[in-house]
Amino acid sequence: MSETKTEANAILIVDDEKDIRASLKEFLEENQFDVFTANNGQDALEIIEKENIDVVMSDLVMPRMDGIALTRAVNELGFNIPIIIMTAYASIENAVESIKAGAAEFVSKPFKFNHTLFIIKKVLETKTLQEMAKKSEYYRKLSATDDLTGLNNRRYFKHMLFNELRRHARYNRPLNLLMIDIDNFKKVNDTYGHLTGDQVLKQVTELLRKNVRACDILARYGGEEFAVILPETTENEAFMVGERIVLAMNQHHFKTMEEELIKKLSVTVGLASFPQDAEESQQLLKKADDALYRGKLLGKNRICIFRKFEEY
Ligand code: GH3
Ligand code: MG
Ligand code: MG
Repeated sequence: MSETKTEANAILIVDDEKDIRASLKEFLEENQFDVFTANNGQDALEIIEKENIDVVMSDLVMPRMDGIALTRAVNELGFNIPIIIMTAYASIENAVESIKAGAAEFVSKPFKFNHTLFIIKKVLETKTLQEMAKKSEYYRKLSATDDLTGLNNRRYFKHMLFNELRRHARYNRPLNLLMIDIDNFKKVNDTYGHLTGDQVLKQVTELLRKNVRACDILARYGGEEFAVILPETTENEAFMVGERIVLAMNQHHFKTMEEELIKKLSVTVGLASFPQDAEESQQLLKKADDALYRGKLLGKNRICIFRKFEEY
């Protein structure tokens, strides 16, 4: 990424008028830019492909390939290079058309040099900020996701649960939480090996994905434990989702690394509801976990609702 580089920024001036190229070049070199020039869009593209250009200033009307076509080509080829369009007719139509084509800015001729320099610096700054945002988004994602399954990790899930509860409380909406733990998973590892264990975790992830809605928030909560936030659901709806997951596990044919069939697998699910069971996230997690534990005691391969403990 370019924000750490200390050398001068490279700018490409594209204009069919020699005098304009020369005067801009002189001005920008005085201002510590490395300046390249081209007199039409096609030559400009060749330079862009060879050199490490940071920003392009292009005339609008040129023979062979004009400024709009150049802008489109640069964007379509996937270069992340901002383009500033220079136009002699300072009409709104030209500006709109160039921005639509993907230009970052436009300046009108004849230039005011200082204004032009201001625009160039602004465009470069925006580019740097965008690159930094992309980078931090990448790292944010890295730390929010579980490597093996690609699901949200525990840390991020807790953060989401906290936010969702706040939102649901504000709008007075119900929300449900499922905690899901694979039954006797240790035996899978012991019998088939850790790699197959990992593969089973991925297969369970797929099953879960298929059985929840796009708006539900899935996470790998621990080793062989998963969690789902079901926004805007009643306890009964959430119960049905949990049952569906239990059933899907029973019906699924799990395979080892060697495509060998694994003996039937099951999960136990604990269900807790907001606001009936708890008003804040730590408590809600605890209640869902209690329900899950109760399900294990009752013989596994089932869903257990926290609120109906007495009935079990
Ligand atoms: P229960 O029915 O009571 O839940 O029994 P269990 O065997 O599923 O639970 P237990 O907590 O005794 O064991 C969980 C096992 O999950 C032990 C651990 O080695 C395994 N495990 C945890 N994370 C991973 C992982 O990332 N990959 C693999 N292959 N195994 C894992
Ligand atoms: Mg388990
Ligand atoms: Mg467990």
